Amino acid sequence: MAGSGPIEELASQDAYLGRAEGRVLELGEGGLFLDRTVFYARGGGQPGDVGLIRWDGGEIEVVDTIRREGKPFHVVADEAVLPDPGTPVEGVIDWERRYLTMKTHTALHALSGVIFRDFGAKVTGGNMDPGVARMDFELDAISVEFGQAVERKLNEELTKGYPTEVIFMARSEALRDPDLIRTKVNLIPEWVEEIRVIDIVGLDRQADGGTHVASTLEVGEVRVVKTESKGKANKRMRIELS
Ligand SMILES: [Zn+2]
Repeated sequence: MAGSGPIEELASQDAYLGRAEGRVLELGEGGLFLDRTVFYARGGGQPGDVGLIRWDGGEIEVVDTIRREGKPFHVVADEAVLPDPGTPVEGVIDWERRYLTMKTHTALHALSGVIFRDFGAKVTGGNMDPGVARMDFELDAISVEFGQAVERKLNEELTKGYPTEVIFMARSEALRDPDLIRTKVNLIPEWVEEIRVIDIVGLDRQADGGTHVASTLEVGEVRVVKTESKGKANKRMRIELS
């Protein structure tokens, strides 16, 4: 592989960065690796970023960002026009789509915080697209009325403007944190020594690699659009952002 050292994944540090310069590290089937990227690679239920990679004399559309061999891989629309390894480039993400995804992701964490605090139920799964998401809970029953009550509580909490913080902590420390234990921090592979935590201070705290808005006020209004049973102790809620 061309170049050495870890790849700088900027989304992990600053979710509000929309563009960044880097260099082409290596080409792969259907796309390329950069040594420094603003694109979020699909993971943890959050979709990968799309956008553009530009260089002197050319540009290419990025249709997805995934993880390949553990590294962010930019999937391109047309691999016939890829820049050579070493070429300086600028990556520009589709900011509107990413920002909506950030709001959606924070809404999901706030939802899981509310459901645990008020109903003692843990999350069993979840997934999101920009503006819409679903989350499954260890609940015995669910109803339309329950969904409406949760929607009211959730919006009430969001408008309180809880700050969202990104914390990096040692694995040993994370394994002693009750909130992180609840959200199954022990399932993170053992070789991961530093755990990234998203703390919606006072509402929800969990190990997470995704991008979030800085305050729950930015999320806006959320609607619970569907409640359904996916089996015993597994109930699903679908949400939409206004
Ligand atoms: Zn998350």
